[in-house]
Amino acid sequence: MRFTIQTGKTNDILRTKSENVTSAELRKYTRLADDMVRYIKNPENGGVGLAAPQIGVSKRIIAVSLLRDGDDENYRTIAMINPEIVDHTEETECDNEGCLSVPGEHGDVDRWKRIKVSYIDSSLRPQSMLLSGLAARIVQHEVDHLDGILFTDRVKKWEKVLSQN
Ligand code: ZN
Repeated sequence: MRFTIQTGKTNDILRTKSENVTSAELRKYTRLADDMVRYIKNPENGGVGLAAPQIGVSKRIIAVSLLRDGDDENYRTIAMINPEIVDHTEETECDNEGCLSVPGEHGDVDRWKRIKVSYIDSSLRPQSMLLSGLAARIVQHEVDHLDGILFTDRVKKWEKVLSQN
């Protein structure tokens, strides 16, 4: 699967609030959702999550790798259609993030420690899931994309970028 990744902090499509997938559109978008999962699973693409606006589609669809932590090797990558964070802890955790749409930048961002997310899966079933740690962070980062928010808007502390050579 080849997607053209939208980049840039002032890119219009990245800054637009995406629309819900309507029930009439669900079938049409499940294929795209599965393609997004395939894209993320390909290590060459180097991501742990993807939101539809990043591939130029202004719809509320994300693909996320449900990693417990950076060393997790047994994780699932799933699609979420119309994801909604319906509950979360007040407690936050600060950790480093980057983004396929903002290449070369990394910084520390506060995210809720635990969340409950509701969504429709790619078999068109409504689901909800409790997530913590890195998986919760990834979902919050991707849901932000659907609202036109980039992690760079939330950075508390920028990582000193060392020479990439
Ligand atoms: Zn991102």
